[in-house]
Amino acid sequence: KSGFVSIVGRPNVGKSTFLNRVIGQKIAIMSDKPQTTRNKVQGVLTQQNSQTIFIDTPGIHKPKHKLGEFMLKTSRNALREVDVIMFMVNAEQAIGKGDEFIIELLQGNKTPVFLIINKIDLVHPDELVKIIDSYKDKFDFAEIIPISALQGNNVENLLSTIEKYL
Ligand code: GDP
Ligand code: MG
Repeated sequence: KSGFVSIVGRPNVGKSTFLNRVIGQKIAIMSDKPQTTRNKVQGVLTQQNSQTIFIDTPGIHKPKHKLGEFMLKTSRNALREVDVIMFMVNAEQAIGKGDEFIIELLQGNKTPVFLIINKIDLVHPDELVKIIDSYKDKFDFAEIIPISALQGNNVENLLSTIEKYL
């Protein structure tokens, strides 16, 4: 099996940290250079029975100018061409405007969306439950998976869940 996974989320939620963990430092650093292609391959994860290609979807933020609007349109299309969308959020932060904007963008899209609550090492379990509940109301997520990209908690579970959707 093989397939594409797109990671979206506000800055600093831990997207690069996650990629570094699952793919390896080198590739993620290399691909941190800005590019104009609409789908930027961040790395390929080979597991026993599958190959997962992680891509970055630039322009998933509120456009500030015309070019931004154009980029947003192409990003939106790109989100339809993947097998799974990982929508990553920070467990420490309540839903913000940036998250709501992304959720809006995902509405009407048939691609399964995983809500990835990252940085669980920083929050109390009660807080985690609260944040999950607040997101649940906003979108029909295919999966909700709390992780710590930094410490690795539950990352294996996330990867094997992705495998089922390829
Ligand atoms: P990106 O902008 O979404 O790519 O976010 P980064 O991967 O650059 O991470 C932003 C900051 O959050 C960095 O200082 C990371 O070390 C930190 N970070 C990422 N994941 C975790 C996590 O699971 N736990 C903690 N405590 N910090 C994290
Ligand atoms: Mg990054």
